[in-house]
Amino acid sequence: MLVTAENDYGFDTLKIRGGYNPAENNLSVAVPIYQTAAFDLGDTARADRLFSKTEVGYIYSRVANPTVAALEKRIAVISGAAGVVAVSSGMAALAYAMLNVAGGGGRILTTPLLYGGTIDSFKKVYPEFGIEVDVVDDPHNPQAFEKFIKPQTKAIFVETISNPNAVVADLIPLSEIAHKHGLPLIVDNTIATPYLQNPFEFGADIVVYSGTKGLNGHGNAIAGLILEKGGFDWQNGNFPNLTKPYYTLRDAAGRERSYAETFPDAPFTARVRSVYLNYLGALLAPFDAYLILLGIETLSERLKKQVESTEKVVKYLEKSKHVLWVNHPSAEGSSQKALAAKYLPHGAGAVFSFGFKGSNGEMRKFIESLKIFSYHTNIGDARSLIVNVADTTHVELSAEEKKRSELAPETIRLSIGLEDAQDLIGDLDQAFQRVF
Ligand SMILES: *Cc1c(COP(=O)(O)O)cnc(C)c1O
Repeated sequence: MLVTAENDYGFDTLKIRGGYNPAENNLSVAVPIYQTAAFDLGDTARADRLFSKTEVGYIYSRVANPTVAALEKRIAVISGAAGVVAVSSGMAALAYAMLNVAGGGGRILTTPLLYGGTIDSFKKVYPEFGIEVDVVDDPHNPQAFEKFIKPQTKAIFVETISNPNAVVADLIPLSEIAHKHGLPLIVDNTIATPYLQNPFEFGADIVVYSGTKGLNGHGNAIAGLILEKGGFDWQNGNFPNLTKPYYTLRDAAGRERSYAETFPDAPFTARVRSVYLNYLGALLAPFDAYLILLGIETLSERLKKQVESTEKVVKYLEKSKHVLWVNHPSAEGSSQKALAAKYLPHGAGAVFSFGFKGSNGEMRKFIESLKIFSYHTNIGDARSLIVNVADTTHVELSAEEKKRSELAPETIRLSIGLEDAQDLIGDLDQAFQRVF
């Protein structure tokens, strides 16, 4: 039986069964891996229907594949999305979302509290596509965004929980400001995952994920997702990409139509698929989609334990004399407590940072003394990970940019996995002892 959002089941039932119908897949209980480049067109009349889009069916795996579609449908069901496109990485998801909303001439309004790769791409790649980026001066104050909105602004973009400092975005006022100006709110919900937060409930219009991280949870595949809530007014005059007519979208009488007109429920993701996925080609491979689906089956269970362990590690670090500060909403005196209580009732995630009290050499010795934590640039893995962000994930930022992004040189990022919390604390403890 096909489980859809209409079934009104809880999150955990939907994450295991949503959007996949065994009856359409030889009664295969697990989602099969359709490892094929192309699909038989059948007869020429069916080919005509497929290519004129009067029949929906698989043609070529660059644009759609049943295993990848099962992942897209599962995410759609657990998130209440009208449209989902899976792509080959979080960076591809971000790029396609930004190109779709602002490509060819537009501005994105954002904050400095972002993943390093995102900041770099905004600076180095997007201007080549006619996209300029404006950065607010006070990222902690939603009202500060409004004065940066320009006639060419096409979207507001934030991370729901920022990487690496776990700053929680105040989505409701941000979405109100965006909508007042006819703009969508686009969020990167990678660290929260759909279990800790559904940004659509707080006014977001487009959600982007790196599926590589908590969604997958096992550090063995790279993936990205773009989700569209549906209902945003793309025809308000701000979004020519979605309202210009295309020859490929002509109706039976030969009249050219726009994406907004042809796909009224989910025009944004429809265009991402047929323009960017089709022509730029960052597709998600069926096997990787299968791995992400497998990861989602245990999403709540993993996140629940990771959040619990994170809170224990945070408590330990707060008491350590070798730690200057701890940036997690569960930390005592964290400025993020009220926002976390409002937006993250299941916990504020398992990725956070702390300030190492010591020289850079001592910090390096500390990292190299760890026996359990892996020294990795990934996050959201079943294994706990540590990284010195200033010299690795955010190394491309200048000193001034690091300051704006609130990245002190002593910053260490942890991503807490599924090992015993006591062992993780013991590991940090013995490493401090070896240094000091
Ligand atoms: C890792 C990450 C990305 C990029 O995702 P990839 O899958 O590595 O391409 C984007 N945003 C955030 C918040 C991330 O942590």
